[in-house]
Amino acid sequence: MQVTSRYFRTTAREALLDEDLRAAMGRAEGGFIDTRKMAVEELENFEEYREFARKTKNHVLAHLDYYLTQFESNVLASGGQVHWAGNGEEVNRIVLDICRRPDIRKITKGKSMVSEESALNAGLEAAGFEVVETDLGEYIIQLARETPSHIIAPAVHKTRQAVTDLFDEHHREAGYSRVVERLDIVNQARQVLRDHFCTADVGITGANFLIADTGSIALITNEGNGDLTANLPNIHVVVTSIEKVIPDMLALGGFLRLLGRSATGQIMSVYTTLFNGPRRIDDLDGPEEFHVVLVDSGRSEILGTQFRDILRCIKCGACMNHCPVYTSVGGHAYGWVYPGPMGSVLTPLMVGQKKAPDLPYACTLNGRCKTVCPVMIPLPDLLREHRNNLVEMGQTGVVQRWGMWLWSIVARKPVLYSMMTSLYVLKLNLLARMVPAFQRGSFKYIPMMGAWTSSRDFPVPQASTFQSQWKKRALHD
Ligand code: SF4
Repeated sequence: MQVTSRYFRTTAREALLDEDLRAAMGRAEGGFIDTRKMAVEELENFEEYREFARKTKNHVLAHLDYYLTQFESNVLASGGQVHWAGNGEEVNRIVLDICRRPDIRKITKGKSMVSEESALNAGLEAAGFEVVETDLGEYIIQLARETPSHIIAPAVHKTRQAVTDLFDEHHREAGYSRVVERLDIVNQARQVLRDHFCTADVGITGANFLIADTGSIALITNEGNGDLTANLPNIHVVVTSIEKVIPDMLALGGFLRLLGRSATGQIMSVYTTLFNGPRRIDDLDGPEEFHVVLVDSGRSEILGTQFRDILRCIKCGACMNHCPVYTSVGGHAYGWVYPGPMGSVLTPLMVGQKKAPDLPYACTLNGRCKTVCPVMIPLPDLLREHRNNLVEMGQTGVVQRWGMWLWSIVARKPVLYSMMTSLYVLKLNLLARMVPAFQRGSFKYIPMMGAWTSSRDFPVPQASTFQSQWKKRALHD
């Protein structure tokens, strides 16, 4: 997959001008936040589960070699095969080697963000296979020849009208009529995909958790497409990453309480399936071959750095749903597989800081992501670490370096800070009173703040600073 994270400023600016995108993102944002809040309040000891998840993940990351080896031997014991992939090229080569047989033509896929890292679909298609995404959101963006814009809602950026047009364009030849209503869209996708499920030769899925002491794969979906992808073809390939391993079923129970609530605001996702090896002698159905591709792609390197905490991520998407930057610009602006706060931390680590220098700044540091993260990843702190590294690497401009130096002097002297901000507020207010264009309540341009005003207006501040208002209030109280 092409990395365009270097151009975040440009892509974000373009996204802000896209009315359809803004409308689609606006609708999604409210829904995710409200449902999560209700589901979290319903579980009295939610915070205790977060702490449990944080500790469990930290423990596993500290003993990753032990748990991965345990997981591998249990998969082998149940008749499955384990493949280790150091990078994206190896992932694609391993999967191609599994699929290259005369009788294999069609491959169905359940959602797997790890396979997006290596652009597995493109690799398989180039080798002549027909690849069909079966998660509804993934199916929609496959028709549109796009990449996911959210880790759990890949087509969140699409309006219903856009989906209707896509279905019309791609399904008309097969005799399907134009659908407009949401339910009809779902029903038509179900009919089209059912044919693919029944004729697929290989099914590729991701995994949410790998359970070390049983060698099981836990797959969590809302559509059941993962189960059909895994069970109907003769070969099931799981493409997943090494940090997804957890010790046992007890731990799984804890993570399940957090995942659905944090991701979609559901107490439980609709389908939670455990896969254990290929079909056994007494089984009525299931694949004859079961392969697990364990992907590293830089994760073991992250393990030894100050960014280790990001490996706790369970890919719930809550941080992006609560991020004002993500919900304004959408996922594609981030330029690689993982968007939002977790993407801004992970992408520079996986593709290299020089290829994603703007992502650590795609953040207001408001801290909402940290507050909602079910595994307590200190995302704003990690973004600050990235900013430090960029400064040390000399990757920041002269204006920014001098600006921050000046700011550090002012911010360390409360009297000077108060004086400077009072002066600035006074100046902006005078300007707003004197220039008729500014009397409407916002500035379209402010010298030295062009980066802000190029894509949004700057509100005229209140007549005095927060500090002086607070002092007055304290006197009155
Ligand atoms: S960083 Fe936390 S909130 Fe964001 S996707 Fe990962 S687990 Fe979810």
